[in-house]
Amino acid sequence: MSNSINRRDFIRLSSLISGVLMTKPLEALSISDPWQKSIGTPQKVLILGAGMAGLSAGMELQKLGHQVEIIEGQMRAGGRVFTARNMFADGLFADVGAARIPENHDWTMKYVKKYGLQLIPFNPTENDLLHVVNGKKIRYSASKPASLKEYPVSLSPQEIEMGWAGLSSKPFNALTANVGNPAESTWPPQSIAHFDKLSFKEYLIDQKFSPAVADLLMLGWEDKRGMDMSVIELFRELNLSFGAPRNKIVGGNDLLPRAMANELGSIIQYNTKVIRVEQNETGVTVTVSREGERTTIKADRVICTFALPILKKMDFVKTFSKRKQVAIDEMGIFNLARTVMQVSDRYWKKEGLNGFAATDQPIEIWDPHFESKAKRGMIAAYVKNTDSNSFMSMSEAERLSFSKKQVNGVFPGLDNYFEGSYTKVWGEDPWAGYAHAIGNRTNMTEHLPFLSQPEGRIHFAGEHASAYHGWIQGAIESGNRAAKEINSF
Ligand SMILES: Cc1cc2nc3c(=O)[nH]c(=O)nc-3n(C[C@H](O)[C@H](O)[C@H](O)COP(=O)(O)OP(=O)(O)OC[C@H]3O[C@@H](n4cnc5c(N)ncnc54)[C@H](O)[C@@H]3O)c2cc1C
Repeated sequence: MSNSINRRDFIRLSSLISGVLMTKPLEALSISDPWQKSIGTPQKVLILGAGMAGLSAGMELQKLGHQVEIIEGQMRAGGRVFTARNMFADGLFADVGAARIPENHDWTMKYVKKYGLQLIPFNPTENDLLHVVNGKKIRYSASKPASLKEYPVSLSPQEIEMGWAGLSSKPFNALTANVGNPAESTWPPQSIAHFDKLSFKEYLIDQKFSPAVADLLMLGWEDKRGMDMSVIELFRELNLSFGAPRNKIVGGNDLLPRAMANELGSIIQYNTKVIRVEQNETGVTVTVSREGERTTIKADRVICTFALPILKKMDFVKTFSKRKQVAIDEMGIFNLARTVMQVSDRYWKKEGLNGFAATDQPIEIWDPHFESKAKRGMIAAYVKNTDSNSFMSMSEAERLSFSKKQVNGVFPGLDNYFEGSYTKVWGEDPWAGYAHAIGNRTNMTEHLPFLSQPEGRIHFAGEHASAYHGWIQGAIESGNRAAKEINSF
């Protein structure tokens, strides 16, 4: 809080500055909204962060004639879209952040198409995949799921009868009946909002299903220790991001932010860390540090795209409303880590396997270049939830040993072909501090609506301030939404 005004005064003041009464969440922006047709008064806009939210906001505002500057702490744009390059043989690379682009993510697809980037399927359709449950390996193919009888979990005879298709849809009937539009920021509707206090397992019990249904549907995500994720967040995910085919950008997903940054050119200031953000009735002052030297930059408005852990630590001169601050402090966070290992031979192919697996540890394993005809390649261990939290207190050697053990447990023989590795632990990334936001129990109704609301002249974008947590789609949609807010003044 500034020295001269108290919090109540500030809330009133910031409502006046922004011209909006902060009582109602903002609407999520639809891709068909032609907001760019009306040109607001040109303003000087400072965008904090050159991830997908900052890049898309900057691009749209610049096109409209606003004076835009983007401040980025790292030497590269893209943030959590990060492709590990130049560390493997034969030009191999691996996406260690955003990996899959669902075809129904219209905002992401719009920018992919703009730059003519080529997409190929993320998942193979040939050869078999594996599930590992309670130590048992179950083999299946993309066209033929395994019988539920094969899984060593406690399902009722009726649940087994439903098969995978029934088990993935029937438990959600109570939510589907009144679903509304899960992409809206005002979602969920009152009729289902009360389910926000339940985790998936609690919801299953409430709906008279076996909790083991969660163990199967959350393979690769939830371990036996469970997850706090609200069933409302899970249902939104299933509606908005699951089911559609998933792709990857040929040559690596970082080609998208690179193309955007290239177009924006010198308006991005790299290697410049934001230290402090202060506002008053007339503008915003941002203190930045570059090579140890501090300077201030003034702007009419700011779009802040920093991830939640960065927002928590940032010195905003305590200017936020109580609901906003509580939402920032208490919204759920999810950690992820990925170890990519180079192998001299993609040995799993000899067994008719395609290198893809999901376990109850919770780990996903995949071959990032399954489409390649080359013998040498990679295998990735995608480590989640409690296991990725424990990575933060492990040495590099321990992380590698853990990841190798997981891959060996599924595809034995790794040590014969292992050539080197790289591990990215997002929980310790100084520019993100986590992988993404997640709506834990009650978060979707109590906190999410406040994450996207402006505070005076400071506007907010980023995956956490969208309906799509942990997706590029959410970053881009919120970047456009924040740009629209500013353009309306
Ligand atoms: C492991 C993992 C897997 C994922 N998988 C997928 C997937 O398969 N598909 C998908 O679509 N999405 C996926 N995502 C999510 C996607 O990567 C993010 O939702 C999206 O990239 C977030 O963009 P953003 O602009 O909101 O934030 P960020 O990318 O975090 O951008 C914020 C920017 O701010 C900068 N910054 C931070 N602090 C400061 C400071 N003090 N000063 C200056 N600059 C600063 C950062 O360097 C960064 O560039 C994944 C993410 C992770 C981590």
